[in-house]
Amino acid sequence: MFLSVFDIFKIGIGPSSSHTVGPMVAARRFLAELPDDIVAVAARIEVHLLGSLAFTGKGHATDRAVFLGLLGEIPDRVDPDRIDDLIAGLEDTKRLAIGGKKIAFDPAKDLIFDYEIRDQSHPNEMIFRCLGDDNNILTEMVFCSIGGGFIATPEELQLIDNEPENAKSESGEPYPFANAETMLAMGQAAGKSIAYMKRENETFANPGQDLDAGLDKIWKAMESCMERGLSRSGELPGGLKVKRRASDIHEKLRAEIGTNQPFDHTVMDWLGVYAMAVNEENAAGGRVVTAPTNGAAGVIPAVIRYYQDHCNEACIDGTRTFLLTAAAIGGIIKHNASISGAEVGCQGEVGAASAMAAAGLCAALGGTNEQIENAAEIALEHHLGMTCDPVGGLVQVPCIERNALGTVKAVTAASLALRGDGTHFVPLDRCIETMRQTGLDMSDNYKETSKGGLAVSMVAC
Ligand code: SF4
Repeated sequence: MFLSVFDIFKIGIGPSSSHTVGPMVAARRFLAELPDDIVAVAARIEVHLLGSLAFTGKGHATDRAVFLGLLGEIPDRVDPDRIDDLIAGLEDTKRLAIGGKKIAFDPAKDLIFDYEIRDQSHPNEMIFRCLGDDNNILTEMVFCSIGGGFIATPEELQLIDNEPENAKSESGEPYPFANAETMLAMGQAAGKSIAYMKRENETFANPGQDLDAGLDKIWKAMESCMERGLSRSGELPGGLKVKRRASDIHEKLRAEIGTNQPFDHTVMDWLGVYAMAVNEENAAGGRVVTAPTNGAAGVIPAVIRYYQDHCNEACIDGTRTFLLTAAAIGGIIKHNASISGAEVGCQGEVGAASAMAAAGLCAALGGTNEQIENAAEIALEHHLGMTCDPVGGLVQVPCIERNALGTVKAVTAASLALRGDGTHFVPLDRCIETMRQTGLDMSDNYKETSKGGLAVSMVAC
């Protein structure tokens, strides 16, 4: 199993990695894989969104993401300021340019939110169909959006699911750890840190790349997103009338600097405001880095910013160590459980992000591998059972504040772990398996369908 730091941290757009980024990637892949002989006789394209993508797709802008993918756009390049114009153009022409041909696609009719409950390979399934002149299906492709912007066909998903827990990597990287136990054993045998092992794996997988430049680019993209969020005010889109708060809170915090006003716990407001700035940008459909998802994108940047601004020994190498360590933990969680709210609830999104941030901070502050594993476990353990119930299907309530709270748990977890020697009761692998089982037991109402929890009680109010 090898999951690059650049797969875990992908530059994309908001508001959701599974419901926006994944569907955009899937639509583009559908076009890329359409055989020429089918394109030659194609008359119309039709897309069905199933399960969670149907129930919360409107609020997560899944329809708009599919349109953009069908227009050939990709998440890390599309200009957020041009999206409205691109979609208006498609609504006007009702045609897609595919293989030098114009094929009919009416956004109002040919994108179908399909609420029928059926047996699916994954809660986030999409069917892309190419139809002939008499509406006969020429070909169809099914893709699942499996969290963090990753997509897979049902067959690819089967292969992933069948991979044994301790599967050795076939790509041959020097430290092929698929779980925390193996990671710790490898680190102990080699006398190396988690970040070192991750770095070696990345260099092996992509020998020509400038890894540090790539890591710095990720941090810069996170920081730019945060700065945009801190500078904007007004209402977020979607109809809930949720106000952006980060800018106002940030201004107040800055005004308090140097005065004798702040309490010691004000540091938590700094953590919170950084996370909220990122998640407000995400909710507005801005440029965001998945970390490991869009809904949970605020936790890791906020904790890095905390590290840089509030920890004396902070340096650029520490930020790189943070990102590499966090990616190692995120890869283990994704491999053995899930980072998708539609699969396991918010414990897999904000819980995973908090565990990754706790591990990253602990590593950047000089923690041992055992302390890092302990930090990740503490943070994840105390998100277990957390449901996903976004009000109105929008990634706003509870998501924005939830990221702020995720940062506090991450810093607390790292700090507690650093005060111990790494020995602890629940191994990280057990905690990840508990999260997976809890996700399986969780009612679908609490897995990004907006059919339970806050999503229902707020609508009833
Ligand atoms: S509640 Fe959590 S998992 Fe659900 S959309 Fe919000 S951030 Fe994502």
